Amino acid sequence: MIPAKGYAAQSPTTPLAPWNFERREVGPHDVQIEILYCGVCHTDIHQTRDEWGGAVFPMVPGHEIVGKVIKVGGHVKNFKPGDIAGVGVIVDSCETCSNCKNDFEQYCTDGVTFTYGSMERDGSMITYGGYSNTIVTKEHFVLHVSDKLKLSGVAPLLCAGITTYAPLRYWNVGKGDKVAVLGLGGLGHMAVKFAASFGAEVTVLSTSPHKEADAKKLGAHKFILTSDEEKIKGAENYFDFIVDAVSAPHDYNMYLNMLNTDGTLIVVGIPPEAAKIEIGTLIGNRRKIGGSIIGGIKETQEMLDYCAEHGIVSEVEVIPINLINQAYERILKNDVKYRFVIDMQSLV
Ligand code: NAP
Repeated sequence: MIPAKGYAAQSPTTPLAPWNFERREVGPHDVQIEILYCGVCHTDIHQTRDEWGGAVFPMVPGHEIVGKVIKVGGHVKNFKPGDIAGVGVIVDSCETCSNCKNDFEQYCTDGVTFTYGSMERDGSMITYGGYSNTIVTKEHFVLHVSDKLKLSGVAPLLCAGITTYAPLRYWNVGKGDKVAVLGLGGLGHMAVKFAASFGAEVTVLSTSPHKEADAKKLGAHKFILTSDEEKIKGAENYFDFIVDAVSAPHDYNMYLNMLNTDGTLIVVGIPPEAAKIEIGTLIGNRRKIGGSIIGGIKETQEMLDYCAEHGIVSEVEVIPINLINQAYERILKNDVKYRFVIDMQSLV
């Protein structure tokens, strides 16, 4: 086994703290990565606090991983030591079901092995995430990262990036579409960048007045404060798509009413409470609600390549790992522009 160190939550009520653990030996199809940066996703907060239920402890969170390949197994074809590589939200799937065969590993019918908090498929151990110095991952789930981009800004692409890129591509969002992004956080700010890059008219719907100037800098054309009842009313029946990237309970019906006929509410945020939908908001205008989780490995590589080609990275605040608990509190107070990323050199 390979000794590893990281930060872990030992229970839903204990803060993250240093923890030593072990990674599996590098198998024939595995890539070992020295982790350089790991993004801090709101999912890490939901999970370490067990807000969705079923969390497994000790938990080393982190699924926005960028680092340097340090060792590869004998059957690894596409990576060599020294390559810059990424690992996102999933590290294994059955690879045989129709979804896996169609490059939708995130919808594996046999269940996905998540980067942290999942049982490995051979039952040998629990997976531990990227708030650590090293990770061993099956080659199929490792991504190539361009050295043209700032690596700290690339890390969040592995989750926030693909989670917003994939549904925008699936729903063919582009020129001529009016898109709203609800919640300008880690996911939301990437949705703005991608939707604008794809040529859509982008409006940010936000609870935070201080984010207006940033929204425009990120590529949004309009900004509406969700507490501004007049502007919300004025935007009823307006949008073709709304990307809902909100982490906390909120009124979905208010936003459904802002969709035009045949409009789609694309839900990616996962508040811990069930949504209450008034069916009248759907049937009147043939509106739809669609959900989406991250993206497949092939599409994640496509997204990373698109970002390298178009110079797209996440807006980040780089922190040392000993500030992770304060970072969680700041995320909950909406005080981050727009993703914390841990510099793993700070892990001593
Ligand atoms: P985040 O950075 O904390 O952003 C969430 C944003 O939601 C905030 O910046 C804020 O934007 C808005 N917000 C917060 N509290 C709110 C409230 N009470 N009412 C209305 N708006 C509120 O979180 P994130 O990392 O982007 O993650 C967002 C959600 O997506 C989380 O639930 C996460 O678990 C989920 N997620 C889903 C997937 C997937 O595959 N579907 C992948 C990753 C994450 P404003 O200040 O602009 O209002």
